[in-house]
Amino acid sequence: MTYSYDQNNIFAKILRGEIPSKPILESEHSVAFMDIAPQKQTHILVIPRGPYRCFDHFTEEASAAEQVDFYQTVAKVAKAHGLSEAKGGEGFRIISNSGKNAHQEVPHYHMHILGGEPIGPLVQ
Ligand code: AMP
Repeated sequence: MTYSYDQNNIFAKILRGEIPSKPILESEHSVAFMDIAPQKQTHILVIPRGPYRCFDHFTEEASAAEQVDFYQTVAKVAKAHGLSEAKGGEGFRIISNSGKNAHQEVPHYHMHILGGEPIGPLVQ
C-alpha cells in the first residue's frame, strides 16, 4: 500500500517547531511530549520524527533503527516518570490508535502513555 502523509498535521507542526509543546524527551528518531488534554494524571505522547501516518505505515516503512528507537523511547519515558513497575511504579497503559475505527485524530503515528492513577478497563 502507498501511504499518504499530511505535512500540516499538528504533530508535524510540533516537529517543525511551528507550534509549542511541552517536551519530555528527545532521541535521534523520536520525540516525547505532554498530551495537551490529559486523560489521566500522566499522559505523554511519543512520536517518530519521520513522516508516518499510522502504525501500519510505521511498521512497514520505518527503518529498524527508527522502530527500535521509538519503542525504547516509550520505555525510557515510562521509567523516567516512575510508571514502570520495574522502577517501583504502579504500571501504565500504552495505546496507539490506528485509523478510522480506532478514532485516530492526528494522522502522525503516536503512542499514548497513560498512568499515575488506575486506568480502568481496556475498552469502555
Ligand atoms: P489520537 O486520537 O490517538 O490521534 O490522539 C491524538 C492526541 O493528540 C489527543 O490525545 C490530543 O489531546 C492530542 N493533541 C492534539 N493536539 C495536541 C497538541 N497541540 N499538543 C499535544 N497534544 C495534542
